[in-house]
Amino acid sequence: MTPEKDAQLCTKYSKIFKNRDMAKFETPIARGLECDDGWFDLISVLCHNIQNYIDWKSSTLSSEECENLQPVADQVKQKFGGLRFYITGGDERIEGMIMMAESMSYKLCEWCGNKGKLRSGGWVTTLCDSCDAQQRPR
Ligand SMILES: [Zn+2]
Repeated sequence: MTPEKDAQLCTKYSKIFKNRDMAKFETPIARGLECDDGWFDLISVLCHNIQNYIDWKSSTLSSEECENLQPVADQVKQKFGGLRFYITGGDERIEGMIMMAESMSYKLCEWCGNKGKLRSGGWVTTLCDSCDAQQRPR
């Protein structure tokens, strides 16, 4: 992801991306969000929903329970054409949100965010028709 977009998400959702500024050898998330900008909105909506849920839930939890529930991203990347969002913490509801976002990534162009589909051959990526044409001129 471009540094500006990466910083935007990591600043806005600083609890989820708590380890973003750690040393690169300590955690993969220190390398940043390892996917293209087309998934910015998808990741943004995912983080928004996760953080909203935590903030809502936190009123009924002790601060220790709250700390355990707060997910912290370990790695965000593209693998085999799809988004992977690895966290520590969270619960089943958050796992469900992540599962939804990961499956949706196979329908969204990783480069521009338009409707896309999985392209195989060489690198496996999820792209729209026009970005795919750009990648592989025929
Ligand atoms: Zn595209």
